[in-house]
Amino acid sequence: MWQKKPTKSYKTANPLPGPSVKMNEDELIQNFFASSVHQEGVVVGIGDDAAVLELPPGHQLVSSVDTLLEGVHFPVNFSAEDLARRAVAVCVSDLAAMGAQAKWMTMALSLPSADTHWLLLFSNALHQECEKYSMQLVGGDTVKGKLAVTINVLGVVKNGQALRRDTAQLDDIVYVSGSLGGAALALSQILKKTDLESDLLNCFTQPTARIELGRSLIGIANSCMDVSDGVLLDTARLAKASNLGVQIDLDKLPLNPGLHKMSFDESMEFASFGDDYELLFTVASHKIDGLNSIAENLNLALTPIGRIIRKPGLVTLYQGDVRELKSSGYQHFE
Ligand code: ADP
Ligand code: MG
Repeated sequence: MWQKKPTKSYKTANPLPGPSVKMNEDELIQNFFASSVHQEGVVVGIGDDAAVLELPPGHQLVSSVDTLLEGVHFPVNFSAEDLARRAVAVCVSDLAAMGAQAKWMTMALSLPSADTHWLLLFSNALHQECEKYSMQLVGGDTVKGKLAVTINVLGVVKNGQALRRDTAQLDDIVYVSGSLGGAALALSQILKKTDLESDLLNCFTQPTARIELGRSLIGIANSCMDVSDGVLLDTARLAKASNLGVQIDLDKLPLNPGLHKMSFDESMEFASFGDDYELLFTVASHKIDGLNSIAENLNLALTPIGRIIRKPGLVTLYQGDVRELKSSGYQHFE
């Protein structure tokens, strides 16, 4: 995901705007975080020393954790609501990539102050996001410090059915969901403080984790991962994990409409920046009919962008010819 280079110094939003009232940790948790929607399988939730969770029979636990640090993973003065939504979506995207169903989450929150206004906005958005993915907040930790959110999402998948990135097969077709580059474009404009349309803004602030797609891809895709660090870098990782190579047709990448007026090189930089949280997956050619009906059912674009090849590494093509990208290959740009 987007990481501002650590060589720069960061301002923190300390103190956060708004009133701070004296509240101990127990009151803060009770007031803002105890009311998560109840989901099945929670034997013991918030309030005890640890959560006790029951897996549905015949399922495996899928777990992933992410930390979002102010000034590093989200801009200073990012809104409380956007932070909650982005933090949950970014984490749930990892469950989507595994074909898992989200069930529960825990959250470690580091806050500069107990600002009730900020906490109300943050917790309301967090609960809404939990509801969206049918997921219950079952525990966490709250400390005073620089603003940071760590979320551990817990999901389930039927025994042995998790989608993985190391199981791509030779000649698989590589697909990506949705469109690319919207998050990078939105972020660049947020940092420039440009006003932008809500559709574009939401690409960065409220990505949608592709949970339904991930679950539908079980039995169809040979391999899958989410695009967090950019479609080119992530495809190269998938191929490497599977001990194969990959060729990508740059002219087939589904670009966010905001990239259409850019030069080719600039559009490629934005499209391969990452942060879009779409799914990248590979499918054998005889499974394509099944895939097309998933796209129709979910009303979601699923675009073929390349192929798994035997020779290790990443080959980028433009209209059938090898085309090296001008920018620093498929690495992040500033
Ligand atoms: P302990 O000291 O035993 O680790 P805490 O005092 O940190 O427990 O937390 C008390 C209860 O509140 C625990 O059940 C914990 O999981 C929950 N909790 C603490 N912080 C959060 C949070 N930010 N979100 C959700 N639950 C939390
Ligand atoms: Mg304890």
